[in-house]
Amino acid sequence: MADKADREGRAPFLRIHNISKHFADVKAVDDVSLDIEQGEFFCLLGGSGSGKSTLLRMIAGLETPTSGHIEIENQDVTDVPPWKRPVNMMFQSYALFPHMNVEKNIAFGLKQDNWPKPEIAARVEELLNLVQLNEYGKRKPNQLSGGQRQRVALARALARKPKVLLLDEPLSALDKKLREETQRQLVAIQKEIGTTFIMVTHDQEEAMSIATRIGVMDQAKLVQVEAPREMYERPANKMIAGFIGQVNLFEGKVKGTGKAQKIISVDTGGILETLEKTKLEDGQTIWVAVRPERVLLKTKPKGRAAKAANKSSGKLTDIMYLGGITHIQVTLDSGHPVRITISEHWDEDEAKLKLGDAVEVSFEKRAARLLVD
Ligand code: ADP
Ligand code: MG
Repeated sequence: MADKADREGRAPFLRIHNISKHFADVKAVDDVSLDIEQGEFFCLLGGSGSGKSTLLRMIAGLETPTSGHIEIENQDVTDVPPWKRPVNMMFQSYALFPHMNVEKNIAFGLKQDNWPKPEIAARVEELLNLVQLNEYGKRKPNQLSGGQRQRVALARALARKPKVLLLDEPLSALDKKLREETQRQLVAIQKEIGTTFIMVTHDQEEAMSIATRIGVMDQAKLVQVEAPREMYERPANKMIAGFIGQVNLFEGKVKGTGKAQKIISVDTGGILETLEKTKLEDGQTIWVAVRPERVLLKTKPKGRAAKAANKSSGKLTDIMYLGGITHIQVTLDSGHPVRITISEHWDEDEAKLKLGDAVEVSFEKRAARLLVD
């Protein structure tokens, strides 16, 4: 993957180079290459069984790759045992020692490393400050809330100052509200200490809100690596378009070649247009992806609607008002559903719309992303 570090001629901080992992006949990770920079908060995102944990565990050294290698700061660590890597893995809070208080839990690894007592005490205090648990040092894990326990686990994982912290679905056991609060704390802590974090999650909203970059995995492959906004605006394929946010997919058939080439909507027979310059073959099937907030909605003009690209008529079949935003569904005359999201305000015309009304939906060329698979 060509990136900034390559162009400037220096090695990336963490380089994953053609890594594969096979368990008997299961390909858990298939030829993944990825560079991560120092200080990134990188999220590995994907459905269950896509290979996220296996990739993370190979970075930790808990799993040996079948092929490929891993470098950290230009050092090949592929055959280095976990405890000798500058890497640590944060486990979920239930892995805390129940009989030890918070301070002792955090100090555990430092004691094993034979740090001098005063240094351990200073480091523990520093970490308690970092995770905002200064008042809780003497409590046992069962005297803490779920979110607090999670922060103790984080402090413990950071105690030996790893260069990379790996987190495997660390927040999945927390309820929604607590999870969002903990996400914010995690981001703040990561910013403050500047350590590289690599987190596995299957929750796209979590990845979007936390990550500096997201790597999407699907069936053992790393499919796309992008910053959240770019991933949302330029998904590489249908799977990612649907996985990262909501999307309308319009199937199209390519007709003709050169300047006369058109994309005909399979669903409506109308013409689909985008600004993209992808080279297409006559007869090829493609998809045009449009986000719900980029679809425009109007009352259907009286009489025959003008035939225009990226425009069709239908009926309004669902309105879900959620305060700040409203979700609308239009069923096109062909039966194809289109989702529309309207935020902030409805204008006069839209506000009068009600279920069953005849409407016209359209989208601008620049709102349409062309996908070939
Ligand atoms: P994810 O974390 O994305 O849910 P995993 O990395 O845990 O996915 O697993 C990827 C695939 O590898 C799955 O099919 C899983 O069953 C398989 N797998 C993972 N670990 C092992 C193992 N130790 N032995 C056999 N198969 C495994
Ligand atoms: Mg997993």
